[in-house]
This record gives sequence, structure tokens and C-alpha cells, in this order.
Amino acid sequence: MFLLTETNDTSDSVSSTVTDGFYQPIKDYVKMNTVNSKQYAFATIFMRDGSKTSFKPKYPNFANRKHTHSEEFVIEELEDFISRNGPMVETVYIYSYNSPCLQRKGGVQPCMFMLMQKAAEWKEKYNILLKVGFTKFWVPKCPDWFEELISTLDSEKFKDYRFKLDYKNLADKFKKSPIFSLLSQVDNLEKNTLFDKITSTRKDLLDLAQSLDNIGLRDDLLLKGEQLINSCKCSPIVRDEFCRILLKEWSETVNNSFEKDIKSKIRKEVGHAVILLFMDKLRSDWRNSFPLKLYRVSSPLQPNDNDVQ
Ligand SMILES: [Zn+2]
Repeated sequence: MFLLTETNDTSDSVSSTVTDGFYQPIKDYVKMNTVNSKQYAFATIFMRDGSKTSFKPKYPNFANRKHTHSEEFVIEELEDFISRNGPMVETVYIYSYNSPCLQRKGGVQPCMFMLMQKAAEWKEKYNILLKVGFTKFWVPKCPDWFEELISTLDSEKFKDYRFKLDYKNLADKFKKSPIFSLLSQVDNLEKNTLFDKITSTRKDLLDLAQSLDNIGLRDDLLLKGEQLINSCKCSPIVRDEFCRILLKEWSETVNNSFEKDIKSKIRKEVGHAVILLFMDKLRSDWRNSFPLKLYRVSSPLQPNDNDVQ
């Protein structure tokens, strides 16, 4: 079931007409596209005579130097439609998977402000109401100093922080690993055995990194990998180096995953707080008279949303 609420209100405060009009196209779109966390946006227009027009989803275009966000394509399409049919239009619904951005590079106006401007313009000209729904909170880009700040976090203070290992990060490290150079240090007779040992140990580590119960504390995750690596039996000529390389790759993966997880969590919380503050400000400045209303649309059909609840 879809849940449609105003962003700072957990009650189902919208009328059934609005709910039907808003989320049916989203449901249809999601059904057609299965799980898709890629950004997209589309509009549905309700006319004063009771009819409605839905437009196809638009995707951002990052191919050019000037990036175009999906909401910009939607606005362009709406501009064209409203310039021809403005007096007939009653309400415009826009759904954007991520909430419209509040920050752009190169002096480009953020989508949220473009939408606010359009909402005011369409209200004044044709008395149109604009309703914007989103599922994920837009997340601001972080400055370089933020990256540095995270890398200097006192890990002792985060020793109770649980996170999931980044399996892909470990797989990437294995691709670039120097470990197979150890084969040149053993006799021909032992080469095959060592090759098999390297391959099977790496597979065990990847399985460990991927296992579902592997959301854990940093020290525990480090220890699990260490135990697995240290229990390996291979030629004593290369054993120290064999363990050293694998331990390095494992511990770097644990530390990278820890940093990545914390960064992502902080960015999401900042993004969430910024949007809620923005809506609060909008409400206190305009009370209920502002022609743009923002809704949070939560859809369990998109499991990737779980991390932003
Ligand atoms: Zn944008």
C-alpha cells in the first residue's frame, strides 16, 4: 500500500481524490519498471472538466556539460501545456523520486526554487495549484572538508556503530591484488596448490563479506576476517606474505565500508533535515496560501527506500 503524507505530518491528511490522482500513476509506473531507484519525475494534470492528462517519466541528462535535471524537463513540458490550456487546468501533480534539489553548481537555479516560481506564476495567471510528491529526500553535495572530517573520526567513539561490509569494494581490491606474484616464489609442484589456496580463501572472504548476518561492529568484522585468513595453511615460504596481503585487503575494506556508511548516514540525515526545515519555513512564511504543496510518498514496492525512512 502506498502511503501519502505531507512531509511533516504522519496522518493521512489528504483527500481520496488527491490520493487517487497522485499515486495511481506512480503505482502504474513502478509496476511497469519493477524496482528502480534511478531518479525520474513525471507530471499528471487534472483539468477543471474532470479529465486528466499524464506525461511520460523524464530522466536527468548528465551527458552534456550542462546537466539537466528531470524536473527541468517536466517543467518545460508543463510550460508548453499550460501556455495552451492554462484556464482549463485545475491542479498539477509532479512526482519526483528524489525531492527537488535545493542546491546547484554554476549559478543554475535549483529545481525546488524553479518549481516555487512556477507555482506562484501559474497560481497568479490561472489559479492552478501545484502538488509535488517525492519518495527519497534530496541529499546535498558535501564539500571536500567533509570527506577529510570523516576520515579523522575517532573510531573509539564509533565502536558500537553497526554497518554492512561493502562486498564490491573487496572484489575490486582482489582484482588489483599483487597476491598471485607469490606463485613465482614456490616450486612448480606447489604452484597449483597455492593458486587453489589463494582462490578458495578469497572466495571464503567474499562469502563472509556478502553474508547477510555480516552487519556488525568494526572490531568484530576485522576479527572474523583475521581468523579466517590466519587459519589458512599454505607453503611456509610465502605464508607470511600471503596473510599480510589478505589482511591488508580485508582491513581496508572494513575501514572503507565503515567510512562510506557513516558518510551516507550523515548526508541523508542532513538532507532530510534541510527539506523539513525548508517546508517549515515555507509554511510559516506563507501559511496555507502558497500554491506549492510538498508530499512524501512512501512506496514499499521500492525496497531501496528502506534506508531513508
Ligand atoms: Zn534539481
